[in-house]
Amino acid sequence: MNARTIFRFDASRLGDLLDGIAERGYRLLGPVAREGAVVYDELGGADDLPRGWRDHQDPGRYRLERSDRNLFFEFNMGPHGWKKYLLPAEEPLWRALWRGEEMLFEETNVDDGKRAFIGVRACELAALAMLDRVFGEGDFRDDRYLARRANLFIVAVNCTRAGRTCFCTSMDTGPEARSGFDLVLTEVAHGGAHFFQVAAGTTRGDALLDALAFEEASPADRNLAKRLLDEAARSMGRHLNTGGLPERLAGSGEHPHWQRIAARCLACANCTMVCPTCFCNTVVDRPALDGRSAERIRCWDSCFSADFSYLHGGSIRQSTGSRYRQWMTHKLSSWVDQFGASGCVGCGRCIAWCPVGIDITEEAERIGEELS
Ligand code: SF4
Ligand code: SF4
Repeated sequence: MNARTIFRFDASRLGDLLDGIAERGYRLLGPVAREGAVVYDELGGADDLPRGWRDHQDPGRYRLERSDRNLFFEFNMGPHGWKKYLLPAEEPLWRALWRGEEMLFEETNVDDGKRAFIGVRACELAALAMLDRVFGEGDFRDDRYLARRANLFIVAVNCTRAGRTCFCTSMDTGPEARSGFDLVLTEVAHGGAHFFQVAAGTTRGDALLDALAFEEASPADRNLAKRLLDEAARSMGRHLNTGGLPERLAGSGEHPHWQRIAARCLACANCTMVCPTCFCNTVVDRPALDGRSAERIRCWDSCFSADFSYLHGGSIRQSTGSRYRQWMTHKLSSWVDQFGASGCVGCGRCIAWCPVGIDITEEAERIGEELS
């Protein structure tokens, strides 16, 4: 069997696919509808997926609503990213405790077992590839990240609907998943039929498809799926002109528009928390109240917090404008120098989850236009 053979199966068999992954020892993690949003959590099977839900997103706005199309994957990006499983928002690195008169130090293990990410979108695969570069390449590698990453099975889902805050086509990351998955699915509903197309990206994916013995997709099936992907690409809610953008932003340090953004920005850090590529973290020590033990905790940090740029007795980025400028110019400009690609994958989360609706595409265009 060729790794790129495309198969099809009726949507009623999605559970068989997920069960097959679980039977291979993987814990299923994926989208669920909870408290008005699609978030990532444990999945018992296909019945836990947010079937029949879709989202509406705009700057500062996210709403879920019922859809009569009853699809499994009609929604776009929710507030969670997969980074929470690879770089937890908070995790103890080691503990110190008194045992009698002796102080013991214990390193905490990373043992999350085998995990399967279900429903990873193309822009999220690009974000994972970026995190792999950040934590897995260069002189300083993160063993905890790499241990978790090594135990993943990834089921990607192509986006057949673009959200109003999506701009993956501008960042060349979607809507079609091109690499970085074990399996890739496309959900197709047309003329009363509801089925998935599936292809493997690895030998592990091949082995699973062999066992499930799905039929090969016909040329008509493949054309249908391609049309849906083309339509999603054409209907992106947003666009970012990336040509020359890193250079324009690099020269924008004193641009007055930073102050206009600062007048609205709350420095709440939401944009960095929801961003799938923001990786900054810090360590804090947390002693127990009885004085008998303490933990060193690694937790997410943000360039919007005052302490983030604390050096030699003071914060070097005291104003909100300087923090927003740091965030955006790092994402869209200096990230390219550092990691060879933009730090933005066009997922749109920071636009929807900014409480005052600051839109990275609009602000970047404004700064770019006024400079050119
Ligand atoms: S900067 Fe915004 S749009 Fe870009 S990857 Fe981060 S959250 Fe998504
Ligand atoms: S841009 Fe929006 S989400 Fe980000 S810190 Fe400012 S107010 Fe918060």
